[in-house]
Amino acid sequence: KRQELGRLRRLTSRMASGEKISLQANMELPAELPLVAQSGAAGIGLLRTEFLFLNAETLPDEDTQFDIYASVVSAMGADPTTIRVLDWGGEKPSEALARMNGNGEEPEENPALGLRGLRLLLEHPHLLETQFSAILRAAAKGPVRVLLPMVTVASEVIAAREIYERVARRLKRKGVETGDALPPLGIMIETPAAALTAGALAQHADFLALGTNDLTMYTTAADRSSAEVAALCDPLHPAVLRMMAETITAGLVERRPVSICGEMAGDPKMTPLLIGMGCRAFSMTPSAVPRVKQVVRAMRHEDCRQLARRVLAETDVGVIREMLEEFSEK
Ligand code: PEP
Ligand code: MG
Repeated sequence: KRQELGRLRRLTSRMASGEKISLQANMELPAELPLVAQSGAAGIGLLRTEFLFLNAETLPDEDTQFDIYASVVSAMGADPTTIRVLDWGGEKPSEALARMNGNGEEPEENPALGLRGLRLLLEHPHLLETQFSAILRAAAKGPVRVLLPMVTVASEVIAAREIYERVARRLKRKGVETGDALPPLGIMIETPAAALTAGALAQHADFLALGTNDLTMYTTAADRSSAEVAALCDPLHPAVLRMMAETITAGLVERRPVSICGEMAGDPKMTPLLIGMGCRAFSMTPSAVPRVKQVVRAMRHEDCRQLARRVLAETDVGVIREMLEEFSEK
């Protein structure tokens, strides 16, 4: 088993019909770097920075953040690191944030629908400035991409980009070392609003990353962390799949790369469908990479396309699940 994994790590992630598929890792803490290296992932498709500071009592300053990002970027060598700015709020509350807001503040009644992710950062722009600055400095150590969480309208992306470019200009003026070019700034597509207007949002973003965990939650109106409605929070719901298809098509039309970084990206039973829908890049928990690579290497593109066509025409979640089971058994 170990040998098999070692062998897979060195093989390229290419389909039997020749298409190259990018398999990257999701990561939360630098302690996971050895796992990422072992997995054979071609870079980090999602670094969830909120987890770095979840239990911190104060907001991390720029140098503290820079040290962490720089160590990850350096460890990845020539492979890119996609750093997502803080996705605090929702089911990821933060100690530091609670203190910053003053403990007198009423907790939100619906945190998942409240001031979360980019909304929260735009409300506290100094958080975004500090984090952008740390990330841009880390970009001097290797290829970096920057990702904005929880987008719903273009004005949020435009506002974030303005801050991003301002921070970059300031660093340049001060003569601080950053990468040669400004790292691409992309957006998470994880709300129905973003998925259904992905083409318009793409005008302001360099790449799109489908966050199918939240997209499923917001589409099915079923909390991703509730056991009671877990059966309803199903990424195979045709409404979710159609929104994903819409996003992937928008990316192709607007020539923006689209990756999938929700949990389903690491489920080998989903791989043929997602490839058939037109996706070429996946980011997943590191331990899932070898198995997904095996599936990629065994598959022909045309078969995936046909599967996706049949699945997207189906309206029954149970039947869709059976189609995928049946396909992977073959
Ligand atoms: C997602 O929502 O699918 C996602 C990748 O982000 P997170 O799981 O961190 O919310
Ligand atoms: Mg999310």
